[in-house]
Parts: sequence; structure tokens; C-alpha cells
Amino acid sequence: MHTETAIYAGLNLIDGEWVEAAGGQTFTTRNPAVSGEVVARFPAMEEADAIRAIEAAQRAAPGWRRTAPSRRAAILYKAADLLEANAEPYAEELTREEGKPLGASRMEVLRSAQTLRYYASEGLNVAGATLPSDDPAAFVYTKREPLGVVSVITPWNFPISIPARKIAPALATGNTVVFKPASDTPLIAMRLAEALHSAGLPAGVLNFVTGSSSRIGGVLVSHPAVRAITFTGSTGAGEQIKRGARLATRLQLELGGKNPLIVLADADLDQAAELAVKGGFELTGQACTGTSRVLVMDEAHDAFVERLVARTRALSIGSGLVPTTEIGPLANRGQLEQVLEYIAVGQDEGARLVYGGERLEQGALAQGYYVRPAIFTEVEPSMRIAREEIFGPVIAVLRIGSLQEALQCANDVEYGLSAAICTREADAMHYFIDHVHAGVVKVNRPTTGNAVNAPFGGWKQSGTATYRESGRAALDFYLQEKTIYHGV
Ligand code: NAD
Repeated sequence: MHTETAIYAGLNLIDGEWVEAAGGQTFTTRNPAVSGEVVARFPAMEEADAIRAIEAAQRAAPGWRRTAPSRRAAILYKAADLLEANAEPYAEELTREEGKPLGASRMEVLRSAQTLRYYASEGLNVAGATLPSDDPAAFVYTKREPLGVVSVITPWNFPISIPARKIAPALATGNTVVFKPASDTPLIAMRLAEALHSAGLPAGVLNFVTGSSSRIGGVLVSHPAVRAITFTGSTGAGEQIKRGARLATRLQLELGGKNPLIVLADADLDQAAELAVKGGFELTGQACTGTSRVLVMDEAHDAFVERLVARTRALSIGSGLVPTTEIGPLANRGQLEQVLEYIAVGQDEGARLVYGGERLEQGALAQGYYVRPAIFTEVEPSMRIAREEIFGPVIAVLRIGSLQEALQCANDVEYGLSAAICTREADAMHYFIDHVHAGVVKVNRPTTGNAVNAPFGGWKQSGTATYRESGRAALDFYLQEKTIYHGV
């Protein structure tokens, strides 16, 4: 059924003013559950608009750097309160734009508020060191200072929590920001900018610009005033950004994944199936840490697959706005096409599609981008569905003979974001923790999910790894250190 909703007319924030694109161009976002429904219209900025935003951030930088840390924290706390107070309407907007179930959207908005509060507090602990000095005539110490202007470039799959975990530490440490969200989800991203603006951020400290990456991405990456770029998105875009950035620009790239769950023979197979479904199919498989490979010991294989199929069959698929929905649509047409293409690739490669994989077109589902979660068995490590990021609800099950073989297979891909094991054996757990190549490691937990206060980031092609996100260490990315020798 087509739902009539008002089309939201979004604006951008440049130098403290809510503005249209100078040339007046716009683009629209659509509801992936009802692809005919336009959710919002936003300014399609041109390069000159983005340059105005960068210059505003540059002008605001000295004042914000000198603003008392406690004042900066107070603004973040107030913005968190505003997000929390509006959690219900914002969650609904997030679901309309991105498709995820309302409960997941609500959690994401609340988590974003939690993130703002966490960095409000952490920003008060930025400290240098006093060092023992061999020279009695010199007092030696270090201090940490903000970098200046930071470009924040984010994807659509966590359209408010990923921006929050970049913008909050940037602001808390005294940097100014130009923020470009993904073009599928600008409305919920704007809610974050609005909350921070309403909480009292001075003009130019946070600038929010929307538009295509081909028009404004280049300048956000290569402008000489941009001192750092924090980016989350695909590995391909990350590579382009790395090529386009200046030598002196600091980079934080959080990229794709091909995350394995290893299931050993002693595992509780009901739990293993639950972990696979949660990690692989929740959020319609559109999480960077999503489980896309399950490596199962030979003796547990058939019993595991039986449970996985049964648990998947029970999932309720539909519009994220329906309270009972567990799996929403894919986020856009490109995602739908990519997922269906990989399902065809898997079949062509000779893997066995034991469940799902078809586009769902009965009744109201026909209006959206729905695919039944797919399970492949008889997958070989060399197959594309076992190596490439699909970013959708597709699990490839591989049969393995030993923990060593599982680790070799888990590590033999270009990615290294998240990895999990399901077992009750302590030795196996520790061996896995020691030998797996991943930035996030889970034992009897799904590959997805991370805590606001715990470091997060990928190895290999999954991220730059030099600077981690989340947790206290996240502040390091936004700070530069000075060593001072002070004659006494
Ligand atoms: P994407 O790479 O297409 O886009 C991400 C953002 O970058 C968007 O705002 C886009 O407009 C912008 N962009 C793209 N190319 C650019 C360029 N050359 N210069 C400047 N900006 C550019 O990714 P997506 O489709 O929005 O998100 C899905 C991808 O994100 C998946 O690969 C997923 O694994 C990854 N992801 C990673 C993490 C992580 O923390 N590692 C988290 C979430 C998503």
C-alpha cells in the first residue's frame, strides 16, 4: 500500500546559516520499502558551495580551539538531550530513508546521543605529559592541539551513529567540521547537525553539505585547508580518497569486510545458528561487520545448516515501520541489483543455494527492494561469494576440517574487519584470538556490534588501522602533539 507522507525539504548548514545550493539544484531520497515514495528533497551542492563550507570551518577554527573544553562538552551534552527527546520521530525518519526496522533505528538514534555524551566527557581528559628533564635549566612537557578543519564523509547504513562517532570526538577536541552524509540518508544526518546547531555551536564550527561525491567529494578530500579526513564507506571509495588526499592530510578510513564466523564441532549449534542469523541477516546484511562467511567443522555442518535454514525461515520480512519486522528491505536499487547479481554468481560458480535468494514481490513487498535472505552451501574458498563483500543478506557456508584450516580460510581474503568463533573450548578460543587477522574479534558473540567506549577498526583492506574509532583512543586522530622545552 502506498503511504502518503509530506516530502521533507532539507537544507544545508554553512557558516551557521541553513541554506539551499547556490545554484538551486536539489535531489530526492526515496523509501526503500515503497520505492515510489519520496522522503525528502535536499540541496545538490556544487564545488563552490563546498568550498564556502570549508572556508567557514577554517574561519571558525581559531575561536573553537580557544573555547573552554567544558563549554564544548556542554554543547555536546545538550545536543545529546535533543536527540534523545526526538528519538521517536527521528527513528521513523531513519527507517523511511534507510529501511531498517524501527527498533534498530531507535537504538541507533539513542546510541548517537550516548556517543555525544561519551566524547563530551572524554574531551575533558585530553592531556599532555610532563617529562623528567636531564637539563636543570629546561622544563620539558607536551601538549595536544586540534588539527583544524576535518572532513567527515559517511555511508548510509548507520546514517546517524557513524557521523556521531566521528563528529563528536572532532568537536570535543576543538576541531571544526565539514560533514557530507551519503545521498540516500541526508535527513537523519541533518537531524544530528540540527541538534548540534540548536545546542549552541558557534557559526562555522559544524558545516553540513549534501550532494553527489562526484561534485563535492573531491574538494572535501583535497582542499588545502582540510587537515584530516575521517571516512567510512566502501574500499573502492577509500582508495580514491587516499589517492586524492594531500600528503599532509591525516586519514582515517573505515572500509569493507568479509567477516567470518567459525563454528567448531563442540559449539552449541542453536547458538551458532542464532549468531549467524543475527550477524548475517539483521540490518538486511548491510553492516560492515556483517557475517558473510560461516566456516563450519565437517561433523557439525549438516546439523548447523539445518538449524540455520530453520531460523532464517522464521524471520519476518517487511517494512521497517511494522513493529514485528525483523528484516527490512535493501537500502536502494543499486543494493538490490548487487545482491541479486551475487546470488546469480554463487549459483554459476557451483555453490548450492539451499535457501532464499529470490526477490520478494508478493503484495506490498513488490513496492520495495526485498530479497529473501540467502544461504549457500558447498562454497569453496576460491569462489567470489567467499571472497568479495556482497553487503546484503547472503551467507556462504564453507565446510572445514580443523581450526587451523578455518583460520587459514578466514585470513585468506583482502579484508580483516570482524571475526567470530562459536565454541566452548578455551584453548580453541585463545588460539583463534591469537591467530585471526581482524581488528574486532568476537567469541560466542555475533560479528556485528561494538561498544561506544571500545576501540573499533579494520585491518588490511578494511581500514587504515593507524587510528582507531570509538573509545578513548579515537581522540588521537583529531589531535597533534607539541613538545615544549621551557627554559627555567
Ligand atoms: P560508499 O563508499 O559508496 O560511500 C560512502 C560515502 O563516501 C558517501 O557519503 C559517498 O558519497 C562518499 N564518497 C564516495 N566516493 C567518494 C570519493 N571519491 N570522494 C569523496 N567522497 C566519496 O559506501 P556506501 O555504499 O555508502 O556504504 C557501504 C560501504 O561502507 C560498504 O563497503 C561497507 O562495508 C562500508 N562500511 C564500513 C564500515 C566500517 O566501519 N568499516 C561501516 C559501515 C559501512
